[in-house]
Amino acid sequence: MRKLEKRNKKSMEEEAIMPRNYNRWSRRDFFKTAAIAGAGSLLAPAAHLAEAADQNLQVPQRPFGKSGIYVSILSLGGMFNIKSNQIMIKQALRWGVTYWDTADCYQDGSEKGIGKYFKKYPEDRKKVFLVTKSDSRSPKGMSKLLERSLDRMNTDYIDLYFVHGIDSIYELDQHTRTWAEKAKAAGKIRLFGFSTHRNMEKCMLEAAQLGWIDGIMMTYNYRLMHSDRMQRAVDACVKAGIGLTAMKTQGGGSVRTDTDTELKMAGRFMQKGFTDAQAKLMAVWQNPDIASICSQMPNMSILMANTAAAMDKTKLSSTDRNLLQQYARQTLSDYCAGCTEICESAINEKAPIGDVMRYLMYSRSYGDRSHASAEYRKIPKNIREGLTKVDYSLAEKKCPRKIAIAELMREAAEELS
Ligand code: SF4
Repeated sequence: MRKLEKRNKKSMEEEAIMPRNYNRWSRRDFFKTAAIAGAGSLLAPAAHLAEAADQNLQVPQRPFGKSGIYVSILSLGGMFNIKSNQIMIKQALRWGVTYWDTADCYQDGSEKGIGKYFKKYPEDRKKVFLVTKSDSRSPKGMSKLLERSLDRMNTDYIDLYFVHGIDSIYELDQHTRTWAEKAKAAGKIRLFGFSTHRNMEKCMLEAAQLGWIDGIMMTYNYRLMHSDRMQRAVDACVKAGIGLTAMKTQGGGSVRTDTDTELKMAGRFMQKGFTDAQAKLMAVWQNPDIASICSQMPNMSILMANTAAAMDKTKLSSTDRNLLQQYARQTLSDYCAGCTEICESAINEKAPIGDVMRYLMYSRSYGDRSHASAEYRKIPKNIREGLTKVDYSLAEKKCPRKIAIAELMREAAEELS
């Protein structure tokens, strides 16, 4: 915590040299203008949106590693039907949510939705820091997917291209590096990196040694950010000039919780004028080493709530942060930290424990059972059908969070099959 406070001071110094739209607005300013914009009604007439933009309400920006590029501290996660939500992404851009994140595999034609938008508003392309991801690891596969992403999104370049969801740095090699350098030289990508929600700390520490990774998007939240290992991983990336984007910042777990601390926490935050969901975002932003938070914002209410939090001048107090940490401790065994190298290596069978815990989280914490089921069904049939027969006792013994793996694997099979 002392480290974060020290960095906050550094961040205040950095704010003095931020570009002109690095403004912080009060929640009152934001909601006043949001009301003018009609966003609260979800209808947001175009004339009113223009009025909001005229008032220059903008989400702050931070530098993305050593790239020289500034990105909005809130990123629009694109795992929703963007094709049918064009007005919302227009509004996001007007509020300064200029960092847009998608992937070649996201459901509901996410990339095509962005392409539809850029076809209608080609002048907006240069305002957006556009990120997409490749499920392929091979240079040939990445080239194919990159061309498809460019085509789908009606653009001739990607600002940051990620290899999607690695769990070991060995998924990248010299061929990957050569591919990234060629794609940059051809002007098709500006920056290159990876996303990770398994073994994040190890991937980050090892990436910092490589010298050719520009950006990483990793699971990072109030539950994980205080561990020594995560702090070391962030420090190493900062030193290596790697830009960091946090995801899964709500810290939702594979088990629904309803503890007294949670209620107490929500009540305290409400008294201060924000929700516990906003407080969890603010806790991450209080680390200035995190350039941006990628958040799924599939509707105007979530976009408004997150944008208001991003513009908020309020800092969480040490009591607020302690409450979050107390809640994290109380619900330790309800949250899988993605350290799959521990549990998955403890069993003889192939069982994607970390992935299944994440799918349960999509279902129970995000309330998105259809996406969770779709992901669960992607597990090869022969492995999926054997998941409830595996003996997880050693994995449970080794799990640092004492997660009831066997029970949750059984529940996942019933809930998501
Ligand atoms: S089940 Fe436990 S050991 Fe396995 S990834 Fe989750 S927290 Fe780590």
